Amino acid sequence: MNRRAILKGALGGVMGLSLPPFARSAFSQASPQGSLAVVPVADGFVMLTGAGGNVLVRTASTGQVLVDSGAVSFTPAVLAALRRLPGGGHVTTLFNTHWHLEQVGGNLAFGRSGATIIAHEKTRAHLATDYYLQNEDRYEKALPAEARPTVTFFTGDQTLAGDKRIEYGHLLEAHTDGDIYVFFRDANVLAAGDAISPLKDPVLDWFGGGWLGGRVDAQDKLLKLSDEKTRIVPSYGPVVGRAELQAEFDMTRKLFDRMLELVKKGMSAQDMLDAGLMKDLSRTFRDPFRFAYDAHKGYWAHHNSLAPNVL
Ligand SMILES: [Zn+2]
Repeated sequence: MNRRAILKGALGGVMGLSLPPFARSAFSQASPQGSLAVVPVADGFVMLTGAGGNVLVRTASTGQVLVDSGAVSFTPAVLAALRRLPGGGHVTTLFNTHWHLEQVGGNLAFGRSGATIIAHEKTRAHLATDYYLQNEDRYEKALPAEARPTVTFFTGDQTLAGDKRIEYGHLLEAHTDGDIYVFFRDANVLAAGDAISPLKDPVLDWFGGGWLGGRVDAQDKLLKLSDEKTRIVPSYGPVVGRAELQAEFDMTRKLFDRMLELVKKGMSAQDMLDAGLMKDLSRTFRDPFRFAYDAHKGYWAHHNSLAPNVL
C-alpha cells in the first residue's frame, strides 16, 4: 500500500469521530472528486482542506500568501478556490513546510505565475534532483526549475523581509530533514506542517531524515512560539490550539523516552510493542507497528548521540 492509500484510509476511518463541528463539516465536504472546503482559521486566514495536504492562505487584496500548495491533482481546484478569496488568486509568496508531494504539488503553477517560494534548503535540494522513495521503492522525478524553492535557509529563525511579522524557521528532523514552521505573529496563526499530527498517526519519514527526537524538539519549539490563543495549522486534520499541541507533545515525549530504553535493550519494533511501548497513551494509533517501525529506524542514525551505553 502506498503512502497515499494509507493516508486516504486514515482520513476516511476517523472522520467525524472526535473533531470539533466546524472541522467535521469541512472534512465531510471534501469529496474524493476534489471539491475543496474553505475552513476559517482567523481574521484574514483560511485553510483549504481536501487538496491532499492542507493549504493555509493569508488573504489580502494586495496578494495571497500560502503555506503549502497541495497535491498536484488538486491544483486546478486550489487555483479556483483562491480566485474566489480576497486577493483573487494572486499569490505573492508560497512557503513549503517540507518536500512531500502533497505539500508541493501546486509549486509549478505558483512558481510560473511569479510567487516567491520559501523553504528549507534540504527541501530545495530534494526537489531539485530525482530522489528515492524508500516506502514505494521508486524514484520521484525532480520538480521543474520554476517549481523549486527560490529562497532557502539552513538554520535558525527567519523573518520575511518587507513583511516583518511573518517568521519561519527549521524544525530539525521532526518528520523529514527539511521541516519548517511559519508563524504569522500578528494574527497568531502558526503553520506547523507535519511536525504535529492531530488527526492521523504521526508519520516519521525515517528515510527522509525524520526521527522521534527531532519531533520532540520541534513540538517543544512550537509550544514556545505559541500561547493559549494561537491557531495551529497542521498538514493534515483540523486547526488546533495549544492544549492539543501540549497533549501531543506529552505523548511524543513519552514515546521517545520509552523507545530510548527499549532500543538500549536491542529490541525490534514488534518487541517494543509487546513490551508496552504504546500503553496508556492519550490516543489510539491506527497502525502501531508502522509507527514503531519507522520510529525505531529513525533511532539508527542517532545511536551515537543517545547515550554512552546504547550499543
Ligand atoms: Zn509529509
